[in-house]
Amino acid sequence: MAMINIKYDIDTINNKRSTIKKLLFEGSKNIKTENFSQIADKDLYILFELYDEIFLKSWFKDNFKGKIIFKLSKQLSRAAGNTRTKKNIADIRPENVEFEVKISLNHLANFNKIDRLKYVGGIEAVSVLDTLMLVFEHELCHVIEFLICFKSSCSKKPFKDLIFNLFGQTETTHKLVSANEVNIQSYGLKPGDRVKFQFNGKIVTGFIQRINKRATVMCQDKQGSYVDKSGRHYKKFYVSLESLTKAD
Ligand SMILES: [Zn+2]
Repeated sequence: MAMINIKYDIDTINNKRSTIKKLLFEGSKNIKTENFSQIADKDLYILFELYDEIFLKSWFKDNFKGKIIFKLSKQLSRAAGNTRTKKNIADIRPENVEFEVKISLNHLANFNKIDRLKYVGGIEAVSVLDTLMLVFEHELCHVIEFLICFKSSCSKKPFKDLIFNLFGQTETTHKLVSANEVNIQSYGLKPGDRVKFQFNGKIVTGFIQRINKRATVMCQDKQGSYVDKSGRHYKKFYVSLESLTKAD
């Protein structure tokens, strides 16, 4: 497909983002403010049209014959977005090329739960909408790179050039709020903490090894099959965070 030879300066990028926000507020049933709490897959399609028109000079409209499926995802935990297509994209007829672009709901929902600076692609995100748009821009660049190069990697230079030229993003990672960080704040628990909980009617004490949706708690037990460097035996438990209290 035709290359994209577009490069904007930061002021132009910011102006274009503002235009997109204004038009999104008008076109979306859900997104009416910067810190919206409702969003549907449909909004991602609206966003796509707006980006194509306002940033990409209708590059997709004029060149792309395939299909993109946009989805909000509750599954993504570390990545804030994800773009997939078939590995043999180079051999697929343009009209049969298909992408699946996922945007993480968790990262949007967690955005305001922690009060600190947040970044996507080296740009500060000050609202839920900023987060959505910056992540969307990253995934859009994956789609573009797949279409032009038949492969895409955000750790490599062509991607970094593309996303910088189009959207001014200087990094390919984010510093958004993970579920883990929210748990640590709301329960005051972090890995390494000593905790206690009830198990089969007894109080068991141990330490938190890891926190995902539940905490992994290691409890000293002669019969345990986990052995540390000093030869102490442990049993491993998966415990919901609300069942844990701090021990001393
Ligand atoms: Zn990426």
